[in-house]
Amino acid sequence: MECLICGGNNFKPYYYPPNIFNNKTFTYHECTSCYSARISPFPNDEDMALMYGSNDHAYLLSLKDGEQLSYSLNYPKYNHQGFQLHFFKKYNYKQYGTTLLDIGCGSGFYMNYAQNFGFTCYGIEFSEDFAKLLRAKTGLDIYGFKEFSERFPGEKKFDIIHLGHVLEHSIEPKQFIESLKKYAHPETVFVVDGPLEKNKCLSRFIIKCGSLLKGNRSNTYHPQHITFTDFNSQLTFFERAGFTKLNYEVQEQMFPFPSEFKISHPFRSMLFLLARLSINISKLNSKWGNVFHYAGKLKRKS
Ligand SMILES: [Zn+2]
Repeated sequence: MECLICGGNNFKPYYYPPNIFNNKTFTYHECTSCYSARISPFPNDEDMALMYGSNDHAYLLSLKDGEQLSYSLNYPKYNHQGFQLHFFKKYNYKQYGTTLLDIGCGSGFYMNYAQNFGFTCYGIEFSEDFAKLLRAKTGLDIYGFKEFSERFPGEKKFDIIHLGHVLEHSIEPKQFIESLKKYAHPETVFVVDGPLEKNKCLSRFIIKCGSLLKGNRSNTYHPQHITFTDFNSQLTFFERAGFTKLNYEVQEQMFPFPSEFKISHPFRSMLFLLARLSINISKLNSKWGNVFHYAGKLKRKS
């Protein structure tokens, strides 16, 4: 078994309980070199088909025939999508150009936002069928990888390539970055957002306690996440992938805790308050939190 983050080969069991999905048991292991964790075995094509695509995006299926998706970009406070838009504006990515490729674009919310800054945007989704559905429902230029390369055989280049909560789903993240280099010119900025599911913060500690109490009793969620990183291991990944860092920042989202306080749900409301407390504690240290934002350029080969 290999660490997808640092390339190491030594692992010890990780505290995440085993997870049963599609009649298979997935287990979790921690790399003794970089302290990232990974799943084993990897979900196969059949598992992936069950986990992703339009099934994973119920908001599209609820639209009537001919009805288009409308965007409300007012996300709740401390939401991972809201953070992605916040960073886009904060770091003024408009300074790097006018074309954006959004990999794993999902609903297209990021493209919709970037268009307001004058960007021409293209999105890519992993399933060709899902991409087609998204294109019809959003009016945005969203394609599967195959259709995109057929439509633009000259390998279109982009000023910004964005990956929002994508890498942690990949069973070969380093090779995946490699495969995107054909869309980059020498000054392209890669903007990457994602979770730091193994990083320091009170809410992770609470989840850890919950998992330890659960013992070896298994979970039954979709094993969508392949790798679990912290502040340092995530940075290690980008260095190994050949980037020179422009920005790296950690923030904290409410998820997986509830984002609403409702007096009628005392337990959920308690979790809400703990998540807010955790966010406030994490403000004391710039390395604490559970989501990261990274931007970098590919190192030039001399
Ligand atoms: Zn490692």
